[in-house]
This record gives sequence, structure tokens and C-alpha cells, in this order.
Amino acid sequence: ALVGGGELLVPKRKSAARPAMATCAVVRRPGRGRLAVVGLGPGARDLLTPRAKAELRRASVLVGLDQYVDQIRDLLRPGTRVLESGLGAEEERARTAVAEARRGQAVAIIGSGDAGVYAMASPALAEASDDIDVIGVPGVTAALAAGAVLGAPLGHDHVSISLSDLHTPWEVIERRVRAAAEADIVVTFYNPRSRGRDWQLPKALAILAEHREPATPVGVVRNASRADESSRLTTLAALDPATVDMMTVVTVGNTATREIAGRMVTPRGYRWQEEAR
Ligand code: SAH
Repeated sequence: ALVGGGELLVPKRKSAARPAMATCAVVRRPGRGRLAVVGLGPGARDLLTPRAKAELRRASVLVGLDQYVDQIRDLLRPGTRVLESGLGAEEERARTAVAEARRGQAVAIIGSGDAGVYAMASPALAEASDDIDVIGVPGVTAALAAGAVLGAPLGHDHVSISLSDLHTPWEVIERRVRAAAEADIVVTFYNPRSRGRDWQLPKALAILAEHREPATPVGVVRNASRADESSRLTTLAALDPATVDMMTVVTVGNTATREIAGRMVTPRGYRWQEEAR
């Protein structure tokens, strides 16, 4: 039986003496639960942080998408309970993870890149109560992994915008793209294009092109840090959306971004750039 959040081991009994002077029962309370929100990085094992590794090793319950679980299964302790699920079941994954932590388990919920970026951290913490410990472990998000492949595209102010209108109305996305365009901010597009979602990327690029030259550098990186990584440097005018899919991020430079020796470089500051000329 569960009593006051614990397991009843010995039911209440009274002392034998008359009149009864004392009653006693024994309940085992679970320890305080732990929910680790762990980013696995973009793919390569050596871009998984030592802290992420330690949290995976510590977990008694692991919650995540099956494809991410496969990526780190060898790092788990034998006996770790793995609750895998397919794409889409986000809310359910979040609820399960929090429920396990509230039962006193050490739970790790995982996501690729950083688990807080378009991933599980927010749905999980929206469910969490203050009776569990929450530990966030940052991971290398796709924009950073891609930036390192391309050169130095994020050297000045930059934003990430997800082009998925699954959870966000297109009007909201478009308003943000427009704001980034007007503010001359480098933009990295996540979830840029899928089979069923092919017009959003061209539309977003067209909005940026209203404020940036056709020759503005654009970097396309697919599967950053994974075995089949590929990347190409092109321009706003020349980008072929057909080369972009859901394994890809697209980084569009600002008006100061240049291609230098085949690399994408955004100067640290506009003043600095003028002085160098
Ligand atoms: N939490 C993840 C992002 C999840 S959204 C992170 O922080 O990276 C999923 C999108 O991320 C994909 O559609 C793709 O645009 C991008 N992405 C994730 N991993 C990537 C990788 N290794 N290379 C290129 N893009 C990646």
C-alpha cells in the first residue's frame, strides 16, 4: 500500500500495555527524484560532453526518441529501464519522465543537440513540480555544429528560427523572419524543409532577400558531425532548396558576412570591418 507518498512496510500497531501509550507504523519514502535533461550533441561521440555521459550512466530510467536512444545505448548501465517512443509522442514522453522522477527514480530525458532547443526540455519542465531535482546538461546545438563546419558565420548577432509550422502558425514564423531580416541578424533555420513542407524555406529566403544582396553567403550543412556530413557554401540567389532536408540547417549571413577562402565569415563588428579595409 502507498501511504503519504511512501510504501507501507509495517501497518499501524498499538503498544501492548493498557492503556495504549504509543502507536507505530513503518513507511518507506522514496528518495527525492532526479530529472536530468541531457543534450547528446549533433551526433559525433566526441561532441557528447563528459557531463552528459555521467548523467546517462547515472540514470535508472532513460526516456527518449528511439533514434537517439540507439546513439548512446552503449553508455547506459546494465538494467537501466529504457522507455523509447517514436516521433510525435512528445507530451507523453514528458509526462512519463516526470512521473518516474516523482516516484524517486533517477531519470534522464534525452534530445539531440541541446535538449532545450526545439526539444524535450520545455514540455518536460512544463510538467515538472518542485518535488524533484532538475539538472540540465547543455549540448552542442546544430547551429553551432554547422557554424564550425562553415567557418565563422555566427561571429555577430544571430538567431535560430524553426520553419516547422507544426506547432507554430506560419504568420508567427514569418513575422520573426521579417524582424531578423530588418535587423540584419544572421539566421539559422532549423527544420528547414521536409517532403510535406517545401514552400516555407523559399518564402523565408525571399523575405531575407528583400534586405540582403543576392550574393549574401548561405551555408547549408547536412548531418553535421555525423558519418555522412556534407556542407556547401552558396548564396541567397543561388541556393537550391531541393538540396535541403530535415537533416539540414541553413545559415544565412548578414550584410557584412563574406566568403573568405571558401569559408563563411561574419565580422565581429561593423566598425572593425571598416578599419580593416
Ligand atoms: N535539439 C536539436 C534540434 C531539434 S530540431 C539541436 O539542438 O540541434 C531538429 C532540426 O535540427 C533538424 O530538422 C535540423 O534542422 C537540425 N539538426 C539537428 N541535428 C543536426 C545535425 N547534426 N546536422 C544538421 N542539422 C541538424
